[in-house]
Amino acid sequence: MIKINRFSLTHKITLVILVVTTAVMGLGFNFVMYKDADALHQNMLENAVTTAITVAGYAVSDLVFNDKQAGRDTLSGLESVPSTLNAFLYDEQGILFASLHEVELPPVIKEMGKDIARYQDNQLHVIKPVQHQGRELGSIYIQFSTQQLDKQMQQYRMFLVFTAIGLLFISYLLANFLSRLVSKPILNLSQVANEFSRDINYKIRVNNKTKDEVGDLYDAFNDMLARIQQDNIKRENSEQALAESKDRLKQFFQAAYEGIFFHEQGKILDVNPGITTIAGYSPVEVIGHNLLEFIEPSIRQQVAETMKDKLNTTFETQITHKNGHTVPVEVRARTVEVDSHDIRVVGIVDITERIEAQKKLQQAYDVLEEKVEERTADLQAANIKLKELDQLKSMFIASISHELRTPLNSIIGFSSMMMRGIYGDLGEKYSDYISRINNSGIHLLSLITDIIDISKIESGRIDVEISEFDVGNLISEALESIRKQAEDKNMNLHINAFPETILHTDRRRLLQCMLNFLSNAIKYSEQGTITLTLKVSKDEITFYVEDTGIGISEEDIPRLFEAFERIDTHLQVKAGGTGLGLYLTKKITTELLQGEVGVKSKTGEGSEFWIRIPKNLNTQKEKTNI
Ligand code: ADP
Repeated sequence: MIKINRFSLTHKITLVILVVTTAVMGLGFNFVMYKDADALHQNMLENAVTTAITVAGYAVSDLVFNDKQAGRDTLSGLESVPSTLNAFLYDEQGILFASLHEVELPPVIKEMGKDIARYQDNQLHVIKPVQHQGRELGSIYIQFSTQQLDKQMQQYRMFLVFTAIGLLFISYLLANFLSRLVSKPILNLSQVANEFSRDINYKIRVNNKTKDEVGDLYDAFNDMLARIQQDNIKRENSEQALAESKDRLKQFFQAAYEGIFFHEQGKILDVNPGITTIAGYSPVEVIGHNLLEFIEPSIRQQVAETMKDKLNTTFETQITHKNGHTVPVEVRARTVEVDSHDIRVVGIVDITERIEAQKKLQQAYDVLEEKVEERTADLQAANIKLKELDQLKSMFIASISHELRTPLNSIIGFSSMMMRGIYGDLGEKYSDYISRINNSGIHLLSLITDIIDISKIESGRIDVEISEFDVGNLISEALESIRKQAEDKNMNLHINAFPETILHTDRRRLLQCMLNFLSNAIKYSEQGTITLTLKVSKDEITFYVEDTGIGISEEDIPRLFEAFERIDTHLQVKAGGTGLGLYLTKKITTELLQGEVGVKSKTGEGSEFWIRIPKNLNTQKEKTNI
């Protein structure tokens, strides 16, 4: 049997076209033949019936006059009709009256008197009644040969067969051409696909020259190849990465200092060489054994219980070295699921050194504790001594404050009087000396006063004197105190409007801070204006003292509120000072007035110092400070 599957695509397409063409032609020709045969038969039948009717008409007189010879003559007229085989005229009783050709046994017609025309046994049989004036006189029966018709049909059939063969040949040629046209690109694709699978060449592509469905197929095929190529590159990359990562993992596993076991159902599946370093056994000696066998027998049961915990477990235990000695180890065990198996991954680290170190650490700690105790005792003793010293210092400051101020006041007082000429004219030289004594005295007094204040604040022995006062009153006093200084330098004092406010705090200390800011503003300016601004909120009041003086550079600002810090400027010497003013102001503000201080300044652009304090000083807090 022919296997169509093995046919090439070209042959398949040709075969399909031929089968379809043959089927269509077969059906078409059959239909045409049937139609034509039917028409020919019908035509012959109609001619035969007409002939029979005509002959029946002629035969009427023959039957009426019972003239048999005339009957035969009438029938002989049929000889001119070539297909006539024989003709019979019957009388009223169905008895043969005349026939065209003599026959031994004339046919007996059962359907006498009926109107019949039918094809039977390759003949056409026509029976017609002979009637005259409504009376039936007999019947005429004519037999026609269909030989001529059959011959015609045969010729017609031959014509159709030859036509069909010709058409089939043409359709074969056409089918062959069409199938090549259709199959060529597909065969081309198939050839490329074969090459691809044979050579595993991911770079191969089909050349697309068509824009039809095959062209789309080419594009899709090329896309598919491109995607396979990409996937392949990715796969190769990931395979390589996987292989590298496996290698690395293996290297880690082999190189790990830790002993790493894979343990399942009481048996060691695999172990790295780390175990040799820790327990002296080679991996081969260990694989297949139970991990517990290497644990010190006395604690084996306990370890077995601990290891039962499927979660991560970390504990310290002891294993027996191949040499027989005990090795302290830390065990970390966790369960991982591999192919539906619970595998225990157990890591073992030799902690001999750690334990030694712990012991040493404990010893060091014990020594340290002893030393700390000793030092604490020393410190306590020193502290007591310090307190005593502090008390002594306070007593010293209190007494020295009085002892130093009294003579200094005298020096300043008398030198002032001498400068004013109360004791007569001193002459230029001595006036200069006295002026220097007076300035140094004032400087020393201010330094001593500041140091005593700072010392009192630091030791918490300063008295905070809270009073209720109007802030306007305070500002007036402050401005009055520095007015002369400002006028001497030709500087303006400007106060921005502020609401009437009553403060409940230490007036003297606040004034001291204000005066420090104001006198600095004058000292460190050569001209311009000093502006005083007050901002009052519900609980706080902020004083801003702004000048148009020499200003302070950004890097110097952090040093400003430190003790004895003076910024190196051309005004430093002329301005005079101790470098304690801002330090003391900050101490007073933060430690006594419970506020804060700050500054904003730029070299050459002036400065703005500010103090923010609560309007009502918290007596509770203030008491603890004292
Ligand atoms: P001093 O007694 O030197 O004035 P302060 O503590 O009051 O000490 O000030 C410290 C330093 O801060 C001053 O020496 C000065 O250099 C700088 N300083 C203070 N106020 C101002 C100001 N308004 N403008 C510029 N520099 C100032």
